[in-house]
Amino acid sequence: MSTSIQAIRGMHDILPAEADLWEQFETTVRDWLRTYAYLPIRMPLVEPTPLFSRAIGEVTDIVEKEMYSFLDREGGEHLTLRPEGTASCVRAVLQHNLLYDGPKRLWYMGPMFRHERPQKGRTRQFHQVGVEALGFAGPDVDAEQIAMCARLWDDLGLTGIRLEINTLGQSAERAQHRAALIAYFEQHHDQLDAEAQRRLHANPLRLLDSKNPAMQSLIEAAPKLIDFLGAESLKHFDDLQQLLKDAIIPYRINPRLVRGLDYYNLTVFEWVSDELGAQGTVCAGGRYDGLIEQLGGKPAPGCGFAMGIERLLMLWQTQGNSNEPETPDAYLVHQGEDAARFAFRIAERMRDAGFAIQLHCGGGSFKSQMKKADASGAAVALIVGADETLSNEVSVKQLRNTGDEPVAQTRVSFDQLAEHLGELFFPMDDDDGSL
Ligand code: ATP
Ligand code: MG
Repeated sequence: MSTSIQAIRGMHDILPAEADLWEQFETTVRDWLRTYAYLPIRMPLVEPTPLFSRAIGEVTDIVEKEMYSFLDREGGEHLTLRPEGTASCVRAVLQHNLLYDGPKRLWYMGPMFRHERPQKGRTRQFHQVGVEALGFAGPDVDAEQIAMCARLWDDLGLTGIRLEINTLGQSAERAQHRAALIAYFEQHHDQLDAEAQRRLHANPLRLLDSKNPAMQSLIEAAPKLIDFLGAESLKHFDDLQQLLKDAIIPYRINPRLVRGLDYYNLTVFEWVSDELGAQGTVCAGGRYDGLIEQLGGKPAPGCGFAMGIERLLMLWQTQGNSNEPETPDAYLVHQGEDAARFAFRIAERMRDAGFAIQLHCGGGSFKSQMKKADASGAAVALIVGADETLSNEVSVKQLRNTGDEPVAQTRVSFDQLAEHLGELFFPMDDDDGSL
């Protein structure tokens, strides 16, 4: 016997009960994005590898060790399963010249792939909602994106997600800070771990991101970027904070928030929950004014964020929420060959009228079919036997007792069934039923 094939480690099936929750989440997200006038965009899952090395940066966790890359059969092109969406989104915008008539607000949702060690809140295929505002320079759009997140947590009923913000300044300011950092860490070279020593000259900023406990006090005392910022960068940060205060969105400035991706400048932010263990960041974003030019476009600013859907849904469940899976309106039970054909017609006619019908398939006694009808969660069973088929009628049995009324069974003609179900599902208060 051959062994059965399993899903790849770190890549998970989303089974029906859970998929239902995902759909609820996705519906909430779509409605939310519409209220901020963001437009949807969908990009391929596979892109040329250089897109990511150019956009994200060579000396980053993602590009150094997390990408799923392979050679294409044709032409030997280097391809990569997208590890994030911003690079693809900007590529698409440039390729189709979407900024020709002004700035754009765009969003997408879907799987991302990173070859990292699977653990709670960290998988190799995971899903993000990504939001990008391209062509806007001011702190107003940064603040709007942060306010958007706050509203989504509200819409989802999530609590306790705290906001951390920081500013990365501009590249010239960072260069000064960077030189100061290198000098500082060189002075303390013997206290750096191997990874830090390797990264020190290529990307010293990443040392601040280190999770090595032995290096924390050294990092704490390192030169701070804020001390190297000019008036304009400081104003951007101050204005952002003013807008957040106006919107009554509490935040904490975390000077160590640097983000794993190279292309950020000015604003960076993260939303973090303490209820998820080590993987507590549910959303991360910020400004990337250099990226569009870096990918070959006319210089234009950008600002965006991405949230991890798995982590948000985990938080949603941690906070005691549960979702009721969708149930059909009616379960259709039938017996006999003629009745089966009649049932098929009834099911289609009721779907025409907008009802969700689960047609019994696979035979069995009335009794066993009625058990299945009950288990389906449907509000009513529609029953057709030889009798009903002859008289072109359907028996309607209420499976769930609503209020004080006894569970009822009635017989309705085929032509009147849709109307009858309509009255059952959407009862009118008026005695005469008129509007
Ligand atoms: P981390 O520090 O947790 O590795 P990151 O900086 O690599 O995060 P981003 O690239 O900013 O993450 O992605 C934005 C969000 O996507 C994260 O805040 C997280 O919610 C989610 N995310 C990132 N990587 C994973 C993963 N491997 N599994 C599940 N969710 C993830
Ligand atoms: Mg990561």
